[in-house]
Amino acid sequence: SSVTNHLPTAELQALDAAHHMHPFTTNSELADKGARIITRAKGVYLTDSEGNEILDAMAGLWCVNLGYGREEMGKVAARQMNELPYYNTFFQTTHVPGIALAKELADLAPGDLNHVFFAGSGSEANDTNLRMVRTYWAQKGKPEKSHVISRKNAYHGSSVGSGSLGGMTPMHEQGGMPIPGIHHIAQPDWWSEGGNQTPEAFGLACARALEDKILELGADKVAAFIGEPVQGAGGVIVPPESYWPEIQRICEKHDVLIIADEVICGFGRTGNWFGSQTMGIKPHIMTIAKGLSSGYAPIGGSIVCDEVAEVIGNCEFNHGYTYSGHPVCAAVALENLRIMQEENLLDHVRNVAAPALKEALDGLAEHPLVGGVNVSGMMASLPLTPHKASRAAFAADKGTVGYICREHCFAHNLVMRHVGDRMIISPPLVITPEEIAIFAERARAALDATY
Ligand code: PLP
Repeated sequence: SSVTNHLPTAELQALDAAHHMHPFTTNSELADKGARIITRAKGVYLTDSEGNEILDAMAGLWCVNLGYGREEMGKVAARQMNELPYYNTFFQTTHVPGIALAKELADLAPGDLNHVFFAGSGSEANDTNLRMVRTYWAQKGKPEKSHVISRKNAYHGSSVGSGSLGGMTPMHEQGGMPIPGIHHIAQPDWWSEGGNQTPEAFGLACARALEDKILELGADKVAAFIGEPVQGAGGVIVPPESYWPEIQRICEKHDVLIIADEVICGFGRTGNWFGSQTMGIKPHIMTIAKGLSSGYAPIGGSIVCDEVAEVIGNCEFNHGYTYSGHPVCAAVALENLRIMQEENLLDHVRNVAAPALKEALDGLAEHPLVGGVNVSGMMASLPLTPHKASRAAFAADKGTVGYICREHCFAHNLVMRHVGDRMIISPPLVITPEEIAIFAERARAALDATY
């Protein structure tokens, strides 16, 4: 009954190109090429307007952890829409789905991360975090402790605040980012930047760049460090084991808060509820979104430790979004977390899906184009290289070979994303070994076609 079922693909594509501005896209290219139109989805498969069944090895944008087409989610959304479609949580009001989700997240989150500030997305949540850490130190009588340190090539969102926290140069070149007071240090990307160092030595050196930056700015000026436990959009960069413990030590020594951006890593992606647990980080704030609702409804938030929540609680925090804790989104997120637990999805990831994915990736790493495997649980990248031993990059414009490979994936009914010349994999967590075998078959065919 939707419009997509009534118009032919070419007509829809023309309307799309004429009226629809797409994110992270050169929209003028769509006039000739036409965007691929996804009409429905079930499990790990998308269906496009031409009837192709496409294996989605990206879970949408790293978010559809439960897989597509879970009817329970739709039922809960409909029920909540009928009961209370909207009310806000401003000015001393609240509602049951918001309360229940905050309590559930406090139970799931490690340590004393017991308080939740809701947002509509990861970007919004990181804007919250930026204001929250600055307000925290101001409340403690240190308003000058306001600088935030992040990493080059980090991704924390697209709003001006979160995009400034991110370290994506092409984003910074547009529209006045980064805003003042945000600094970016080296990323722990041993694959591309480690040279002849061992991963351990390189990881330590990258972490110590944080201490250098803190000393340069003065510890009394630095509010927080923010990082993804495993960088996602930067290319699935799994840091060396030496990295996070040293970051933790440095932050503790200099009284710098840690914000772990769990937007991708959270909710099972790395095999634990949170990537911080996988990487041994003890954050003061965690950013969440995506897998919180498996992408079925837009919701994000910040899970905040006792100390920061208490200090913020002693002032009016003049911050919030119309959709903070939206009751329908909260109900959908709760249902997502309920299903994850009922189906023991973390056990499936640890014992079935992640080992099968690792095996498939190790097989693909034997391909002459593939330099190796970066993997943590159910997020992975395969760097493409002309020369395995040296981890060399292609001489062609960075990203060309990756782009070509992504197009061949499409032609083989597989969604893999490329970041430069890395192929990215982040499938729904429910994926089965049989589906992983189909993924590997299609990926190999795409690699062969690229080679
Ligand atoms: N943080 C991380 C680590 C992300 O990967 C993303 C999105 O990809 C965001 C924040 C931004 O989230 P959103 O797109 O929901 O604003």
